[in-house]
Amino acid sequence: MNIVILSRNSQLYSTRRLIEEGENRGHDVEVIDPLKCDIIIEQEKPTIYYKDRYLDYVDAVIPRIGASVTFYGCAVVRQFEMMNVFTTVTSDSIIRSRDKLRSFQRLSKAGVGMPKTVFTNYSRDVEEVLDHVGGPPVIIKLLEGTQGLGVVLAESKNAAESVLEAFNGLQARALVQEFIAEAKGADLRALIVDGQVVGAMKRQGKEGEFRSNLHRGGSANLIKLSDDELKLAIKAARALKLPVCGVDMLQSARGPLIMEVNSTPGLEGIEGATQKNIARAIITYIERNRK
Ligand code: ADP
Repeated sequence: MNIVILSRNSQLYSTRRLIEEGENRGHDVEVIDPLKCDIIIEQEKPTIYYKDRYLDYVDAVIPRIGASVTFYGCAVVRQFEMMNVFTTVTSDSIIRSRDKLRSFQRLSKAGVGMPKTVFTNYSRDVEEVLDHVGGPPVIIKLLEGTQGLGVVLAESKNAAESVLEAFNGLQARALVQEFIAEAKGADLRALIVDGQVVGAMKRQGKEGEFRSNLHRGGSANLIKLSDDELKLAIKAARALKLPVCGVDMLQSARGPLIMEVNSTPGLEGIEGATQKNIARAIITYIERNRK
């Protein structure tokens, strides 16, 4: 098969691993920068031009679209869909998962447990907003933040008020969420491939840090998920129509809660922690499903 990894950087661990495993299984694997693709729209013959050629020989794409290039990256994925090329995650699902509010709305409808969350288009009555999520301390999150940037723990009403005001002044949309203190700065990441959990790890934030992101100095360890955690992760992936994704959960007193579903999960942390070949699982998923 001709497999294309849509990524801006062929040196990233995840990209390198996908190339390696694809080639190990006898495929031609190419990394294509979506920002260098021209989308050619013509009656009945949608195509993509890249550098010096038409990408009309591609069998499957693996989108690895960074948050900062969601718009154009997803337009390229959509064009591949128009060309009947198999994609591990669809453009619509990527776009949906990038918007935390939109994802939460879907997840709550699907009956998935999550921290109580309020979105406000800037209410002056901060106290009321805080009451909805059980009062301070609360978590305030930018709707489109990544890697733990734009996630704030506001310990008091005053702090929450200032943060909301600051975000509002920057015209940045944010949501207010119940703080799950019992998680103790840790979260669970389940890696989903073909709708099933293929690996899981527990990430622990560094001392004194409530965020467990590996980019923020957290550490990762192999973990065996409970039945409830397995079911929740699978249900969340299904609700967002992401057959390949990373599902982040918090362990709360009332059971596991979904925090986020990531359509471009990094492979380095999870392969390191679990010693599992996740890249190969993604390639064999494509082999089973290509049209
Ligand atoms: P990002 O998408 O930027 O990584 P997250 O929503 O994953 O943002 O939050 C970053 C980290 O903050 C999480 O990994 C988790 O450790 C912590 N965190 C986020 N939300 C909560 C919450 N409601 N309660 C407790 N900790 C949280």
